[in-house]
Amino acid sequence: MLKKVILMVCDGLGDRPVKELGNLTPLEAAKTPNLDKLAAKAECGLMHTLGRGKTPGSDTAHLTIFGYPIDQCYSGRGPIEVAGLGLKLQGGDVALRGNFGTVGDNLIIKDRRAGRILEVEPLTRALDGMDVDGVKFIVKPGTAHRAGVIMRGKGLSGAIVDADPHVPDVPVRTVTATDDTPEAKRTADILNKFLLQAHEVLKKHPLNAEREKDGKLPANFLLVRGGGQYKELVHFKKKYDLTACCIAGGGLYKGVGAFLGMDIIDVPGATGLPDTDIEAKFKTVLQKLQEYDFVFVHVKAADSLSEDGNWEGKRDFIEKIDAAAALLTDLSAETLLVVTADHSTASEMKAHCADPVPIMFYGGGGESIRIDNVTAFNERACAAGGLGHIVGLDVMPQVQNLLGKLHLVGA
Ligand code: ZN
Repeated sequence: MLKKVILMVCDGLGDRPVKELGNLTPLEAAKTPNLDKLAAKAECGLMHTLGRGKTPGSDTAHLTIFGYPIDQCYSGRGPIEVAGLGLKLQGGDVALRGNFGTVGDNLIIKDRRAGRILEVEPLTRALDGMDVDGVKFIVKPGTAHRAGVIMRGKGLSGAIVDADPHVPDVPVRTVTATDDTPEAKRTADILNKFLLQAHEVLKKHPLNAEREKDGKLPANFLLVRGGGQYKELVHFKKKYDLTACCIAGGGLYKGVGAFLGMDIIDVPGATGLPDTDIEAKFKTVLQKLQEYDFVFVHVKAADSLSEDGNWEGKRDFIEKIDAAAALLTDLSAETLLVVTADHSTASEMKAHCADPVPIMFYGGGGESIRIDNVTAFNERACAAGGLGHIVGLDVMPQVQNLLGKLHLVGA
């Protein structure tokens, strides 16, 4: 009987045929004996994560795969990234992510990352807890020059533009509302006031005085972006009655896990980059499976490589995933392994696309699963699989079905 679940998401794994690879996709061109061995004992198919003809972002794709409809749960990148910094969101909070940057006269941006400052904790501490017109600002450091901001108070809205213009040598953007509700106007006004007050605090901060003395750029402005209002949601554990943890290198994916209430497991060497230690991640997956019912593991770099147009690098990275996947070919009989991607990324376009991704459901014991005739894990082979074409929101119901956790519909 299947009891435990590993969900492996290889970011941007799907692709289109590439002429230079003999009209194969990078996944088809890669030698993947371990993934193929798993596919031969799995039920396979193709997944249109957000539905046919929709190009998924990584954040919306992941929420959907976990069974959270984005029209109800998604309100931008801010809340997800802020959750990933370990901040607990409350319904109605507006969350933003941001950079500490350097501005000069008239708030003209000199550097969006303040000379890539490495430590911003003393600066966030100086801003954390500020109150503007009854709205409390919670400010916490992210990695390097990054930070997360929560606006907490009544009558707020996420319908605001970024203060960060995303380019240097122009002034900081005044935040405005993107709809005509009084809540959006109020949120924009209060945020503008906060950013100017924060600028005054940062200008005088001893850390910046020290930086300027050393000839470094002061981190004197918080360039915020990605604002979104958090809508309260039922955490993964409660929704599915499964204890869950998240193993990921990239901040966004840790954020998705934290956003859904999963425990975040840090693995040394998991960088979210092509040099990431996939074996260390998979070893941690097997360890954590003793402790948790559901282990989500994310592998990032196939996506980044295709966004660089590097199909050969993507093919080689897929071979690296496959080599590490040898660790997953001897799972216990009670373990269900689901392998898929969040979306396809077309290397020739250097962009996400709406082409469906391969997915397989593999049961460690070879029981419970309707093993089909697919013997390779790739886009075209999986098209012939028993699952046919599914959408992202089908994944968790199928997991629950295989675990015997679905309720009877009707009598
Ligand atoms: Zn992605």
